[in-house]
Amino acid sequence: MDAIIERLMIATAADAALIRLQHKDGKFYWATQRGFPDYYLKAAGTPPPGSALEYVFNTGEPVLAPDIAADPRLKGKVQLKAGLLSCAMLPLKIQNEPRGILHLASRQLGYFDESQREQLMVIARQMGIALENREHYDNLMASRDELAKALKIKDEFLSVMSHELRTPLNVVMGYTTLVLDGLLGEVNPWQKEALDKVMTRANDQLAIINSMLCAISFEAGRAKAESRPVNLAEFLNHLRREYIVPEDKKLIFNWDYSPSLPTVTVDSGKLKQILANLIDNAIKFSHEGNVTVSASHIPDVDTVEFKVSDTGIGIAKETLPMIFEKFYQVDSSETRPYGGVGLGLHVAKKFAELLGGKVEAESVPGKGSTFTITIPCGRR
Ligand code: ADP
Repeated sequence: MDAIIERLMIATAADAALIRLQHKDGKFYWATQRGFPDYYLKAAGTPPPGSALEYVFNTGEPVLAPDIAADPRLKGKVQLKAGLLSCAMLPLKIQNEPRGILHLASRQLGYFDESQREQLMVIARQMGIALENREHYDNLMASRDELAKALKIKDEFLSVMSHELRTPLNVVMGYTTLVLDGLLGEVNPWQKEALDKVMTRANDQLAIINSMLCAISFEAGRAKAESRPVNLAEFLNHLRREYIVPEDKKLIFNWDYSPSLPTVTVDSGKLKQILANLIDNAIKFSHEGNVTVSASHIPDVDTVEFKVSDTGIGIAKETLPMIFEKFYQVDSSETRPYGGVGLGLHVAKKFAELLGGKVEAESVPGKGSTFTITIPCGRR
């Protein structure tokens, strides 16, 4: 505002300039000014009924007065006391609504007159645009601050909730294991089957809670990689043992890697989580066909490339860029057929970045998807 009025004084060579804006309470406040004495600013707080200010504001038409003393529209004549003899009052509009008045005054008699109407109105319109931009900027800043506050509250809430949910779940799982292991008496096959289901579902729930805690730890900048030498072939042999094809799916699992894969320096827990999240999705979103996990060493850049591909439902081209976002799900309706909370890929991406690598996705709807994870071997 100060910069605007400074330039305005130069452009119009006026002796005084004042920007008055109407606030939400309906009253006028001067935003910035040059050359008006204090008693004028005080006297001109709210435009009195029938005044020139009120006219300009209500009609959107300017008042150009070459001779303040002789102009019946200017009733108070307070400007004369300050030696200002000619003035221009111009409407300031924001989004076509009157919001204030730009007031220019000169010590020279006849300085402002009707011949400058167009030129001065152009200046007033440009000022309106500048004010509009400022208002947009203020609104944007306010929304950004509110959003940041809301996000912080949400992360704190999720963090507390996740911890609170994990504690009782650990107790449920602990006692279930006790019963399953026969430590509280013999378990018959039906009871075992039921308890296995309890354990499977409790494990799913624990995985969700853990991925929620992971996602929050990235936000808080708490996530760290703990790298150690890992024999990749052995690592994949272990991982492979954890996967069996679910009974309700006609899927074939392929594992394709050489036993001579190198030993790499990596956080094996995080690498396992990345692959597990992608494999779980490949199984979840495929009904028949293949799920293939492959790994190969790329010597030129000393990286390992893992691929998890499936012959499942696939992902539309326009949704591909979104799938790694936190809580994103292609179908988030209440009736969606697949479970999950939309954190698996987000966690996989963040973990891959933490390990100095990346995850990329390719997909053909109806045909299947391939996720490629590139991780540096970390031996340099
Ligand atoms: P969710 O817990 O919902 O699986 P993810 O972050 O793992 O969350 O995945 C986000 C979304 O990306 C999923 O809801 C799904 O719509 C889509 N998606 C992920 N992996 C696959 C896949 N292999 N095939 C088809 N869609 C997938």
